[in-house]
Amino acid sequence: MAVRPVVHVGHPVLRQPTREVDPRTIDSPDVQDLIDDLIDTMRHENGAGIAANQIGAELRIATIEVTRNPRYPYKPPIPLTVIVNPVLRAVGDEMVAINEGCLSVPGLRGVLQRHVAVEVSYLDREGRPHTEVKRGLTAGTFQHEVDHLDGRMIVDRIDPATFMTWEMYKRFHRDAFVTRITDFAARIGS
Ligand code: ZN
Repeated sequence: MAVRPVVHVGHPVLRQPTREVDPRTIDSPDVQDLIDDLIDTMRHENGAGIAANQIGAELRIATIEVTRNPRYPYKPPIPLTVIVNPVLRAVGDEMVAINEGCLSVPGLRGVLQRHVAVEVSYLDREGRPHTEVKRGLTAGTFQHEVDHLDGRMIVDRIDPATFMTWEMYKRFHRDAFVTRITDFAARIGS
């Protein structure tokens, strides 16, 4: 188990759609060690989630966890979830504007549109299949991580007029965003 360096926008591995994991290999030391490294790195960086290609591994695996996160104090908690070979499907067509950042895009944030509800199918780290509906900011986090696994990043989705540094986010945008998104989360659940 180890904290590994997070690669940043511009690294080709972030643009490479990741490879499906052969379910028979999920219990192998290689895959289990990668999952442990993803969890350690996500927690070390205070990320809400991390995808394998963000630490240079080209497998379709991501981890998600939101506890009390100083980067995202407004996010409802998500228990530690390991998603192997995730498939996302939008549920309904309602969208929500979210101000997002990314560990691989240091210092920058911006506003993008996410589906309010998605159904996600995946295998967990024991290889057991799950199909669950996620809503609200939790749905946004799942969309963010699956985007990474497809070689997509927030810079592709952010309205360019809304790019901002973390410093300017805190100074000019955070309070209004947190108020709006807290009301939204109370209405929509997670
Ligand atoms: Zn990211």
